[in-house]
Amino acid sequence: MKVVVQNDKKCHKWTRRAGRRAGVHAGLAAVAVAGLASGCSEPDAPAPPAQGQQLIQAPAARALDSYATRLHASYTARVAATRRWGLKQVPLTPPRPPAAKARITARPGFEVSRQKDWYLPPVFTTVPTKDKVVFLTIDDGAEKDPAFLRMMSDLKIPYTAFLSNYLIKDNYEYFRKMQASGVTLNNHTLHHPYLPGLSYEQQRREICDMQDIMEEQFGKRPTLMRPPYGNYNQDTLAAAKSCGIEYAPIWNEEVYVDHWEFREDDQRMRPGDIVLTHFRGRGEWNGTMVDDMRRFLNYVTAKGFAVARLEDYL
Ligand SMILES: [Zn+2]
Repeated sequence: MKVVVQNDKKCHKWTRRAGRRAGVHAGLAAVAVAGLASGCSEPDAPAPPAQGQQLIQAPAARALDSYATRLHASYTARVAATRRWGLKQVPLTPPRPPAAKARITARPGFEVSRQKDWYLPPVFTTVPTKDKVVFLTIDDGAEKDPAFLRMMSDLKIPYTAFLSNYLIKDNYEYFRKMQASGVTLNNHTLHHPYLPGLSYEQQRREICDMQDIMEEQFGKRPTLMRPPYGNYNQDTLAAAKSCGIEYAPIWNEEVYVDHWEFREDDQRMRPGDIVLTHFRGRGEWNGTMVDDMRRFLNYVTAKGFAVARLEDYL
């Protein structure tokens, strides 16, 4: 199995060696961590510590040394998880979330009238970023596969769930476990209707009553709402805004257990693309959610993309 990591192996080796050589010298340890964070430039040889600095710097050096050890341990755990779940390559680690977030606007052609004057939640399919990341979003909530939760925690893959109440109400507990593992739960309406076919008031009930249920069940009112089927009109976005929704992300690719569908004609993923898949199992698909995720992760890793957390970029 070919193992791919974002920082190449020489860099890890150098860091461990340098960490040992450095002993208590914090300056070198800091350079070593910078090497880990930035790829693999060979640093200049460090200057020896000045007299009297060692005692002051020792605790920081130990902290950094243990950081490097933890990093190595976490990578080893990811390699083991990669084997356990039958992936071809270790999923790439996403870069740090951006300190300054890009301004999200509606994708051209996806605006509704008065979009800007009324500050309506933007509908978008890609987040503006140069980072080679995609965002995984999973919809509806019919399938509640415990193996899927284990797999994603094991591999530390972030994702965002858009839930529809009629599919999750028989087992909120499953989604509480998901939330406890760091996943953000978002609004996908009460009954998954075709929203543009409903009046403003009916749409408000579908979206805003779901906000209330999410708060009751999960302790938080979502700020993201995905209109079912990606269909919406001005009333949808106005209703969503009235009960606290800030963004209406849809998707640029859709993953099924046996194929992919791209929105763009060139059939390629782009940095910042939002990818959709569904909580579905053998009842609806020729495979499990674990199979679906295996396909997704193998593809994005082979293309050199990491999976990042959507909320970190908004
Ligand atoms: Zn849906």
